[in-house]
This record gives sequence, structure tokens and C-alpha cells, in this order.
Amino acid sequence: MSYTPSPTRYNTIEYRRCGKSGLKLPALSLGLWHNFGFVNDYDNSRNIIQTAFDNGITHFDLANNYGPPPGSAEEVFGKILETDLKGYRDELIISTKAGYTMWDGPYGDWGSKKYLVSSLDQSLKRMKLDYVDIFYHHRPDPETPLEETMAALDLIVRQGKALYAGISNYNAADAQKAIDILKQLGTPCVIHQPKYSMFVRDPEQGLLDVLGNNAVGCIPFSPLAQGLLTDKYLNGIPADSRVATSGVFLNESHITPEKVETLKQLNAIAQQRGQKLAHMALSWLLKDNRVTSVLIGASKPEQVLDSLESLKNTHFSTEEINAIEAILK
Ligand code: NDP
Repeated sequence: MSYTPSPTRYNTIEYRRCGKSGLKLPALSLGLWHNFGFVNDYDNSRNIIQTAFDNGITHFDLANNYGPPPGSAEEVFGKILETDLKGYRDELIISTKAGYTMWDGPYGDWGSKKYLVSSLDQSLKRMKLDYVDIFYHHRPDPETPLEETMAALDLIVRQGKALYAGISNYNAADAQKAIDILKQLGTPCVIHQPKYSMFVRDPEQGLLDVLGNNAVGCIPFSPLAQGLLTDKYLNGIPADSRVATSGVFLNESHITPEKVETLKQLNAIAQQRGQKLAHMALSWLLKDNRVTSVLIGASKPEQVLDSLESLKNTHFSTEEINAIEAILK
């Protein structure tokens, strides 16, 4: 079936400036870590992308290793781009990353110039693209000099293979160093992608300040803690949930009685705000103006539509903030 994007796609979603750069990102972006591999149903993957774009989600986030198998999410996305979004490349922000194990031998992992440059070339081939919009170093490399890794990002941007450079999973001190090196090289660090949600608060220990002070954008990943921060696990483990279907990074051991009790208490506050727990978890991140966009995942098109509901109420009263903190302590 041929696809024509909705003509009203830019009517509702908010676009936020990424730090002090020229780049604006939708308040919600879509990540392809799960549900877009060769193992997944292609029509469903395609439907999720179409639903996102129809609702103004212009930013799609990938990495070399997303699948499974690794690389297949980029191939699937490349196919969807070709079939459905061919004429819309200039309306899209496409990101990919390198930093985790991708191929055998000493050049398929971490942060050498050899790995980053080769990996992006492979990603471009898989997606059938000339360039990506954002290229990230996926995780810090304790062995390669940071100067080399950042020089690779600078090179890639100067070659036109990526328009913007970003980092992911860097702590506050390493992020500051990376930002400084990139600034000296003349290719600013435009964005940082940390793990951040109501359940993972590490970025509050200095990273958000570093990003705010240096005018670098922030795009939290796993904002629903992989689906935990929804109402789906309140009464057991649904058969179509990530715990039941994937179980690699989120499994039954994470669904403890204490966690479920916490979720029930958070759910009660969400209901008082007229939201579902998933909405509250996303809007709770968006209340901070240092957060440019929140990077969601989805296993069904309906979840994209549901998560967009979070944008209707991103204001929190002091009482609500305090009540949430009391539960999360
Ligand atoms: P989330 O925390 O948003 O979890 C997404 C999952 O939650 C979905 O697949 C679905 O799982 C469930 N879900 C989503 N929306 C709803 C809803 N409205 N109601 C109920 N359940 C819902 O994010 P992810 O963990 O998927 O990560 C998002 C993206 O972040 C990735 O795709 C990737 O792009 C990026 N990322 C980056 C990393 C990095 O190192 N830089 C690491 C990890 C992720 P289900 O239905 O199957 O239960």
C-alpha cells in the first residue's frame, strides 16, 4: 500500500531547539532499538514509522547494532525510507551511532577513528543514505584517547557524512571534556543522549548542568524505563510486553513486588493529573527545559499515539513534584 504523509503532521507537536544550535527536534523522538529488526513484523515496523511521521515526529534514532540481528534495524529503516519517505528526506532528522560491539576483530568496537569512520560508512549503506543528521559516539572508550574519538566525529562532519555530532552515555566530567575538545576542533557537540527517567536519575548528578551551561541539547533514552513506567505491569506480565517477548534488557527479575507498589503509587498521581502513568513519565522529563526531546520506543503504532498525549500537560505543581519524589526515595 502506498503511503502519503498526513498534511496536518506539523499542527500539534512542539519543536524544541537543541541547545543553542540551529537544530530543532520534536518533543518526542522515536528510537528503533527494539521492534525494527529482521526478527520483527515488517508491516508493524512500517506502520509505527508512518504513525510517528504523520504526527510530526521527524526524528528517528538508530545505531549500528540495533536489530536483532545487529544492523538489521538500519536495513529495515532504509527500506521504509525508500518505500514511504523518499520525497521527505529534508523533513527528517536521522541519527545513528557507533560505540558497542559490531564486528569481529580489533576495529569493530569502542571509539577509534578506524571504527567510527568504517561503521558510519556501513550504516549509510544499510540505510541507503548519503548522510545522517546526527552521528553519536555511543559510549565512552576508556582506552582510546578522547581527542582521537572526537577528531573522528569532527572528520565525519567535515566530510558531510553527518551534519551534527553527539555523544551518548558519557558522565558529566567526560561530557565536559568531549564538549571542550569538539569546540576547539570547530565542530560543536550538539546533543547528548543519556539514560534518564523517573527510575534512572544519574543525569541530575552534574550532567544536566554541564549540558545546560554549555548549551548542548539533551535527549533522554528509555524514558519509560523500557515500559516499566506504564500501567502494563501493574497486574502481571502481559504476553505482548517487552519482558515477555524480548526479556534481554528487561526481564521478570525487574518486576519485583516493591517496584509494582512504586508503580501503583505513581499511577495514582498520574490519575490525579488526568494522565496515564506513561504520559506522566514522559511529561516529567519534558518539564526541564534542558531536555530537548524525549526518545521513546514503541512496539505498536497505538503506543506512539498514546505517548503523544503526554505533551498535553508538561506542567507540574510543587506538590506533585514533592509527592513523586517521596515515592521515588
Ligand atoms: P522506552 O523507555 O520508551 O520503552 C519503550 C517500550 O515501552 C516500548 O517498546 C513498549 O514496550 C513500551 N511502551 C512504549 N510506549 C508505551 C505506552 N504509551 N504505553 C504502554 N507501553 C508503552 O524506550 P526504549 O527503552 O525503547 O528506548 C528508546 C530509544 O532510546 C531506543 O529505541 C534507542 O533509540 C534509544 N536508546 C539508546 C541507548 C543508548 O545507549 N544511547 C540505549 C537504549 C535505548 P512493550 O510494548 O514491548 O512492552
